[in-house]
Amino acid sequence: MTVYCLGSINADHVYSVPHLPAPGETLAATALSQGLGGKGANQSVAAARAGARVVHVGAVGADGAWAVEQLAAFGVETSHVARVGHPTGHAIINVAPDGENSIVILPGANARQDTGRIAAVLAEAGPDDTLLLQNETSHQSEAAALAAEHGLRVVYSAAPFEIGALSAVLPHVSLLVLNAVEAGQMGAALGPVEGPEIIVTDGARGARWRFGGQTLSVPAFPVMPVDTTGAGDCFIGSLVGALDRRLSRADALRYAAAAAALQVTRPGTADAMPARAEVEAFLA
Ligand code: ATP
Repeated sequence: MTVYCLGSINADHVYSVPHLPAPGETLAATALSQGLGGKGANQSVAAARAGARVVHVGAVGADGAWAVEQLAAFGVETSHVARVGHPTGHAIINVAPDGENSIVILPGANARQDTGRIAAVLAEAGPDDTLLLQNETSHQSEAAALAAEHGLRVVYSAAPFEIGALSAVLPHVSLLVLNAVEAGQMGAALGPVEGPEIIVTDGARGARWRFGGQTLSVPAFPVMPVDTTGAGDCFIGSLVGALDRRLSRADALRYAAAAAALQVTRPGTADAMPARAEVEAFLA
């Protein structure tokens, strides 16, 4: 049972700024922190920390060896991360004192996935396995179609929201995960969506899972958040890790909510993803 994650790998540059820069403004940052990011990498780390065997499928440039090493150090298998002739993806994240942020992403190598490589990886996979996707790479819809053909569970985090990508991937998806804003955007664009099971996360209001005419809800665990960046990625990766261990929907939902609650109490993103033992102790 393996989780294959076709996902972005970014170098995150997080600048603390006195306010978000206005058009034409030049602003001095007060601090910089740098590290591994990208929704794909974050979700792979969360799933691996939840106990799954995770094979990350992605791409970095010649400048990305450190990011691959970090993913591996978090327990993610990286032999299917290609080195391509484009720079590693990066994100410039400005964070104001009130926590508001603005983000610029250079997709770089993330936009250079290769269908042949994805097909070769998925040829090893089968119905016990999962393909996890987001919207920060190229070739999601081809990967989703191939995975569905091989009988994998296809879990799709439709973030950052992009209606073209969503519409192309949707026919192949078993489980769609959205936050409340994305769910609103999807509803406005497509109306009610039939087909996949759908989870909507809603920050401190928890999450709900709609499947086969039923709805399961989980409240958020009450915690004191210090940094909610990556809560959604933690939730999704942890959920997929829990489902890979064959937990029921209700137990996987509770596990993911507990993991995300722990994650928001810590600064950082990938390095804030809790290990399975920590989540189980929190739930005990
Ligand atoms: P982000 O963009 O910050 O990664 P998101 O918008 O994708 O997050 P959210 O819906 O904010 O995702 O959060 C995902 C899940 O994390 C929630 O459903 C909830 O279980 C948990 N969570 C988020 N914020 C909190 C909080 N303040 N306290 C407890 N749990 C939280």
